[in-house]
Amino acid sequence: QTLDKGLEKSKVSFFSKLSKAIAGKSKVDEDVLDDLEEILVASDVGVNTTLKIIGRIEERVAQDKYLGTDELNEILREEIANLLSETNSGEATDFLIPIQTKPYVLMVVGVNGVGKTTTIGKLAYQFKKAGYKVVLGAADTFRAAAIDQLQIWADRVGVPIVRQNMGSDPASVAFDTLQSAVAQEADVVIIDTAGRLHNKVNLMNELTKVKRVMQKVVADAPHDVLLVLDGSTGQNAFEQAKQFTAATEVSCLAVTKLDGTAKGGVVIGISDQFKIPVKYIGVGEGIEDLQVFNKYAFVDSFFK
Ligand code: GDP
Repeated sequence: QTLDKGLEKSKVSFFSKLSKAIAGKSKVDEDVLDDLEEILVASDVGVNTTLKIIGRIEERVAQDKYLGTDELNEILREEIANLLSETNSGEATDFLIPIQTKPYVLMVVGVNGVGKTTTIGKLAYQFKKAGYKVVLGAADTFRAAAIDQLQIWADRVGVPIVRQNMGSDPASVAFDTLQSAVAQEADVVIIDTAGRLHNKVNLMNELTKVKRVMQKVVADAPHDVLLVLDGSTGQNAFEQAKQFTAATEVSCLAVTKLDGTAKGGVVIGISDQFKIPVKYIGVGEGIEDLQVFNKYAFVDSFFK
């Protein structure tokens, strides 16, 4: 229900454009494919992934000789689901911790403004609601505002936060956070980290150091590195994915602001191009507006 509401804009946009493109046509021909290509690119699916999808539909056309436009929706839906399946196994809808040992350490990366803090706050809320003991670490120490914002979310959710002064060593904050989490026998630790991209070497060094220092406390930390991307920023999101995956090993994605965009295709393109599963999607500013990504629900909402 919320997903439908959240993705309404993408749905209307993608679906209405597609319907318009095939109106009055009975079969999928070159023109329809050209239009489809344009619509997919305009929906931020990305050129490579778009060409892949078009290629697969061309194969179907070649195979079946004749492909009616009424079948196009169904086939497109299938191909997009197939693409998403290559990286997203999930049918999960619950906020579950993927490991047995505790604490589960989730390191969160992403540039400022994408919704990183909000996503951490929403995640803390969901994990707490699921019965887990959560600790937050404010290791994005570059801006005082980042620390304060995280504090606001920690208070709101009612979970402890470990913080130091602005400008302090992010690795030191991460270390303290993990020590505190272990002492409290916490189930989940969420570490907020660097939001800067202006200096790639610095970013890489900082993230590497944070990881190395965390491993002094929890040997296999972090268990996941979550990259937060703003789903409404199209090519920027692709560029950020490129830079962060080059700087560190990103294991999963959160795509935010899908409620405010007419272009939810970023979810399809980025998970395909970077072969990283989308784990969460943000569909609003409220505390409940985060969902575990479900590829079937996502595709449904696109094509309903
Ligand atoms: P950060 O700088 O990356 O930590 O970004 P913030 O978490 O402070 O979020 C920046 C703005 O985006 C805030 O106004 C948030 O309320 C808003 N925001 C975050 N996630 C979502 C979302 O899923 N949907 C919408 N509409 N807004 C969001």
